[in-house]
Amino acid sequence: MPKKLYPRGLVWLRNDLRMDDNTALYRAATNCDALAVVFIACPETWRSHGDGDNVVAMRLRTLKALQASLWKKHIPLYFLQLDTFARVPRALAQICRKLDIDALFANAEYPLNEQRRDAAVRETLKSECVPVEYSTDRTLTSPGSLTTGSGEGFKVYTPFKRAFIARFDNGGGFEPLPAPRSPGAEHRAVWPEWITLAGEHNLIRSIPDSVGDYNVVPGGDRKVLGWTVGESAANKLLKAFSGRISDYHNQRDYPAMAATSRLSPYLNCGALSVRRCVQMALGENGGHWVGRSAGAGSWLCELLWREFYQHLVVHYPRVCRNLPFKPETEQVPWSRRSADFERWCQGQTGVPIVDAAMRQLNQTGWMHNRLRMVVASFLTKNLLTDWRKGERYFMQQLVDADFAANNGGWQWAASTGTDAAPYFRVFNPYSQSKKFDPEGEFIRAFVPELEGCSARDIHCPPVGLLRSEDYPAPICDVTQSRKHAIEVFANLKSG
Ligand SMILES: Cc1cc2nc3c(=O)[nH]c(=O)nc-3n(C[C@H](O)[C@H](O)[C@H](O)COP(=O)(O)OP(=O)(O)OC[C@H]3O[C@@H](n4cnc5c(N)ncnc54)[C@H](O)[C@@H]3O)c2cc1C
Repeated sequence: MPKKLYPRGLVWLRNDLRMDDNTALYRAATNCDALAVVFIACPETWRSHGDGDNVVAMRLRTLKALQASLWKKHIPLYFLQLDTFARVPRALAQICRKLDIDALFANAEYPLNEQRRDAAVRETLKSECVPVEYSTDRTLTSPGSLTTGSGEGFKVYTPFKRAFIARFDNGGGFEPLPAPRSPGAEHRAVWPEWITLAGEHNLIRSIPDSVGDYNVVPGGDRKVLGWTVGESAANKLLKAFSGRISDYHNQRDYPAMAATSRLSPYLNCGALSVRRCVQMALGENGGHWVGRSAGAGSWLCELLWREFYQHLVVHYPRVCRNLPFKPETEQVPWSRRSADFERWCQGQTGVPIVDAAMRQLNQTGWMHNRLRMVVASFLTKNLLTDWRKGERYFMQQLVDADFAANNGGWQWAASTGTDAAPYFRVFNPYSQSKKFDPEGEFIRAFVPELEGCSARDIHCPPVGLLRSEDYPAPICDVTQSRKHAIEVFANLKSG
């Protein structure tokens, strides 16, 4: 066997919790004789970023499943709990010293604080003479590699998509990498069971159910709410979805149909790679981004929305500072009626489709994409509530919470973002409901109070049909509130 570049490598995992097609893991296994993996939980920073119990539970339980798979290949996974990102560089320097590490490998992360943390780690490890390699893995292509003619990041999705497809339509470039080979059973003995770091932090091999002030979410080891964790669950879902992808473009907007992939929780914690998704869809689409299957083509475009928002946070880090992309929208006189926001959170607005969607979120940690747009438009336009409150609530509840996609989605709906819905285009929740849940099937599943309503009445129950103690009257008049929101935004434009 040819000698490898480094005797001992360390892989630092974050939101890339899988064996298969993991660039950092593959690079480390290819270049190092012996290999260990570390995960560092920073619950205070996670909390300050808005990460909620569900997404953290998904992360920790996926990690536990991954630890077992790695150990089968004789690769140990260590766990360390610190409070904030600020402590990470020093801790990693100590770990590298104590484990005698020659090189550190990780996959790049793009929000501002993650980028700062990673730059600090590189700097600190430089003084330890430990090289750090960050790979492109979360996205298909590295943010910065795709720009407008004038070298700027794209601000609008459609030209971004066109440029991406023009560059990559030969279908090449995204072939998944194999899982790492085992370095051999003899390497188990190389690694200690645990080590103590300064400040009484221990690098250990057991992964807790919860960290910091996070609450334990029901589901045991293998589930978070109804979601089975881990790579094999993700791959099964991807395979099942490949069987219905051809109808995706026709059915994806109907929340009562199981038409979308529901892969977002796995893509976000990294139990599944985006390249595996692309490989499956390109396979269905004759090897091209625009090809023979309208369903596969339409799904690939959704993966490009994900890509677009990841690139956006790198080019326009302003959005990572709790600021709207369009500075003039900072002047919007957002409503201070906290009771409205509470009713929206609880699914008690009296607008059936909004309530059903919010209850889906609260019960399952996930919401259908069409409904994310409907409830976000309702909160920011009809209730004229600051989009940041909705963004934060979604982060708290979603099992697929991802800063880039969530911030992008909220700023889109609130007309404050880069690729925003024009301010005068406000979703009418009643027409959306009639169009995309015509029989009221989805509403009935989550709002049992309306079970007895006919398909005609369920979208907007007529006055007097229900007792107010059974189901509330609508929180606002959607026509009036829409008009008001448009006026507010129009004044910003002229002001
Ligand atoms: C207000 C709002 C908030 C959102 N918050 C999040 C979030 O925190 N995390 C998240 O992953 N997605 C978010 N989305 C995007 C989208 O709603 C979800 O990705 C999608 O509903 C996930 O379901 P799925 O896996 O079945 O999607 P599918 O329809 O099967 O799509 C496949 C994948 O493409 C990506 N994708 C699809 N639509 C979008 C989109 N509009 N923007 C970015 N990526 C997309 C996701 O990774 C998704 O898993 C948000 C959208 C809105 C409007």
